[in-house]
Amino acid sequence: MTKHDLINITKEFTASYSHTPLTAEMQALLGTDDMCFFDEPLVGFGSADDELFEQLKAPEAVGPQFIPPKEWLENAKSVISIFIPYSEAVKKANNTYPKAEIAPHYVHAKNYTVPFINKLVEKLCLEINKKGYSTVVPSSETARLKSAMAVFEGRKAYTSPWSERHIAYICGLGSFGIHKGIITEKGALGRFISIVTDMPLEADERHYSELYEYCTMCGACGRKCPAEAITTTEGKDKVKCSVFVDSTKVKYAPLYGCAKCMCGVPCAKGRPKKR
Ligand code: SF4
Ligand code: SF4
Repeated sequence: MTKHDLINITKEFTASYSHTPLTAEMQALLGTDDMCFFDEPLVGFGSADDELFEQLKAPEAVGPQFIPPKEWLENAKSVISIFIPYSEAVKKANNTYPKAEIAPHYVHAKNYTVPFINKLVEKLCLEINKKGYSTVVPSSETARLKSAMAVFEGRKAYTSPWSERHIAYICGLGSFGIHKGIITEKGALGRFISIVTDMPLEADERHYSELYEYCTMCGACGRKCPAEAITTTEGKDKVKCSVFVDSTKVKYAPLYGCAKCMCGVPCAKGRPKKR
């Protein structure tokens, strides 16, 4: 099995799920019974030996609770990072709604993606396992995630021992924006997932060397934010953001979401042009 095979499986599986089933209530909200929620995915590959993984233990990166690939899986050789971008229709809807109103298209896409992604990684792991290699999906290792978080009680929300966005950065998918998303060639709005494996796969080249290299500091994400949680001088205020995102449950409970900062901005469709 090659990288090309894994990319193709990911693309085909995503295409087959891009039109998700809609409840009658959601059909009424969206005004349609058929909508494409996902764009074609991006897949990046990293080496489990990449020295950047150790650097994620720094307090200014993920933190000392970060667990590197070889601690998730002994003899790990590769890390696969997958980005499922939301469709242009989802981004457009969220951008078109008034500043403090979140489009149901995005809320549905965000929440529906969880079961879809679980199925996708299950499929990829199965294919890799069939070739005799082991796999671990850190974000599914609930017991280890919880025990790592418990050590940092009081800061539970921000102390995960794994960070999909940092993994995507290491695997060459893109660099950070000040909205704290990863700016990929398909924008920043979507979901990331990753797999650690002992299957040898050649690492992709990173076309950047700085954490925020693709961000032009244009400030557009801050102007879009209904919570005023982003500035070019201070970056993103996670608490302000999280309070606003929680408030969207009033309308959509049990669903929720925002991501206004990633729609209708220069990095919404790809790497922005330098100013
Ligand atoms: S909108 Fe501008 S400042 Fe904000 S993350 Fe994108 S490029 Fe950076
Ligand atoms: S998700 Fe919403 S509240 Fe949070 S920073 Fe982005 S625009 Fe602001």
